[in-house]
Amino acid sequence: MPYPHLLAPIDLGPFTLPNRVIMGSMHTNLEEAGMAAVPALAAFYATRARQGCGLVVTGGYAPNVEGRMKAGPGYLIDDHQLAEHRPVTDAVHAAGGRILLQILHSGRYGMHGDIVGPSPIRAPIGRSAPRELDDAGIRRTIADYRRCAQLACAAGYDGCEIMGSEGYLLSQFAAPRTNQRSDEWGGPLENRIRLAVEVVRAVREVLGPQRLLMYRHSLLDLVDGGLPWDETVAMAQAVAAAGADVLSTGVGWHESPVPTVQQCVPDALFADTAGRLARALQIPLAVTNRINHPQLAEALLARGDGSLAMLARPFLADPGFVRHASEGHEERLVPCIACNQACLDHYFTGEAVSCMVNPVAGRELDFVPSVAAQRKRVAVVGAGPAGLAAALAAAERGHAVVLFEQQTEVGGQFLLAGRIPGKQDYPRVAAAYEARLIDAGGELRTGTRVDAALLRREGFDEIVVACGVRPRWPDIPGIDLPIVVGYDELLAGRATAGTRVAIIGAGGIGHDVAAFLLHDGGTPSLSAYLTRWQAGGGSPAAERRLWMLKRSAGPFGKTLGKTTGWVLRRELADAGVVQLDGVAYLRITADGLHYRHAGEDQMLRVDTIVCCAGQESENALATEMADDGLPLHCIGGAARAGELDAKRAFEEGLRVGLAL
Ligand code: NAP
Ligand code: SF4
Repeated sequence: MPYPHLLAPIDLGPFTLPNRVIMGSMHTNLEEAGMAAVPALAAFYATRARQGCGLVVTGGYAPNVEGRMKAGPGYLIDDHQLAEHRPVTDAVHAAGGRILLQILHSGRYGMHGDIVGPSPIRAPIGRSAPRELDDAGIRRTIADYRRCAQLACAAGYDGCEIMGSEGYLLSQFAAPRTNQRSDEWGGPLENRIRLAVEVVRAVREVLGPQRLLMYRHSLLDLVDGGLPWDETVAMAQAVAAAGADVLSTGVGWHESPVPTVQQCVPDALFADTAGRLARALQIPLAVTNRINHPQLAEALLARGDGSLAMLARPFLADPGFVRHASEGHEERLVPCIACNQACLDHYFTGEAVSCMVNPVAGRELDFVPSVAAQRKRVAVVGAGPAGLAAALAAAERGHAVVLFEQQTEVGGQFLLAGRIPGKQDYPRVAAAYEARLIDAGGELRTGTRVDAALLRREGFDEIVVACGVRPRWPDIPGIDLPIVVGYDELLAGRATAGTRVAIIGAGGIGHDVAAFLLHDGGTPSLSAYLTRWQAGGGSPAAERRLWMLKRSAGPFGKTLGKTTGWVLRRELADAGVVQLDGVAYLRITADGLHYRHAGEDQMLRVDTIVCCAGQESENALATEMADDGLPLHCIGGAARAGELDAKRAFEEGLRVGLAL
């Protein structure tokens, strides 16, 4: 059997799971949308269950109004809400899976006007201090957990996960950082964890022996005043003794200075620590965080870092994680690349959560594939994200698709991105699309430069132009001197950079190129990683000196992702990158860049100037074929380079592929 550990059944007490892969809790923003969003939520979970995920966990539902994350619904406190949950549990059960309701009390992290906590201490990422819960309030909160669990049973859930990590209410009570009480709910560890233990007892009583109780425990708080290791272990043991069947793990409070879900986090960085905790427990533990491949999950379980693997974002990127593994077709698995662009960033901007590399996620009912009424010959020109998505969607619907790519490999900008530190999985996304395309009967012709004559000769019914972009080469005197290199040449290894480098342009690519030039090529150990981030130094002192320049005035990195930009900004700041805004480029000479800044002409002496000045559309083919009368679809960067964005490219490709 492939993956003898990962795919082995496991008896958790209340029931046996068919394999050891759990889909972890992710808030989708559909939870707040009422009855109208219930079919979408049901389809989202059922799609994962149908493809072999034995246990899914919902996004967090608050046990009471104070515990909500945001204003609006998002809690389970009343019988009348059961109608919103029943279709979800029914759909998962019909798909052969099981589902837990996550109960999450946000405590001082709530983004509304009535937040509560153990002590009135404002979170560094919060707007106001919470109201301190008094003894009666704490006991009422425990009762609210109990009622929430009762409602979960009535709604058909197979159990509950209690959110006890990431700095939410139960963490806030456990840690001296946020709990300064002197009553029986504060002080010594036994008092600080009393709330968590009482909540587990109450929920256990409600769930009985037939339903599962999973507790999400904070493996590492990663904040000053968080739990030391011995207390982390003692708390886990207490929660287990109070009645938890399984311990899942979370890493880092949301206010932690240490990135835990960004691309700079090495694969399975925290798995060793999970293993230490697992060995101190009598109940199974689910290991989490940056586990993107079945091979990696298998290795972690084999060495005892957990009895189960809990993956969240990988199930957005590909609902078939378990299916591909059990079919022995890992090459078809689209990995999560930790970009956060369509998941966490959407959550915080209030958009429905989806996935950049799988725009169907969370919108399964909007993108129902249908068999094409008429099989057409379809040419897709360009195998970057847009072209790959279009070709795959069309081929899966039964069209005869030929995907042309002038490079020898598919991926386009994703191939270049694969050279950026932390983005090594980008080319794997492209490779997975390619594998699926071939499986769906599509034809791939790499190393082929397409012109109109070729397309006319082969007689296609539909043509999709997805030729992507070419780097913009700004009109600066001296731009053609050898000192200037394009970001594409640099990343592709066709050019090198010296020790003093200027970067023209400070969009996403300018920032990425800076990170590329600073990276030492190594993967840090956990202790080196923590030391670096906790000490406030995101990057080790760099030998290379970098200057980033842009013409517009204002801060750098404003276009970077909401949940990822801060990491990159800090890495560059810590490495001493000099950032100059509001510059006018005057000329380039063999020894550097001449520019005007704050009314004064300056000369920056550098060995290399990397041009990251945006993109222009590569759409000559579309122009050439415009008069042919053939159905022509221009998508992705070829259509609009200005807003080039892989999220848009994947979605445009999918939409075209489904519409042909
Ligand atoms: P971009 O974000 O549009 O940035 C282009 C940069 O070039 C700007 O800083 C602009 O600054 C400068 N520029 C534009 N025209 C110029 C000219 N004629 N002469 C000199 N400078 C010029 O484009 P990009 O960096 O190529 O990124 C492309 C897309 O990929 C974007 O949508 C980006 O968000 C996305 N991306 C994101 C990330 C990430 O989030 N980490 C990474 C890679 C790519 P001034 O006009 O102020 O000079
Ligand atoms: Fe992963 Fe990016 Fe998809 Fe989020 S949007 S699930 S981080 S690939």
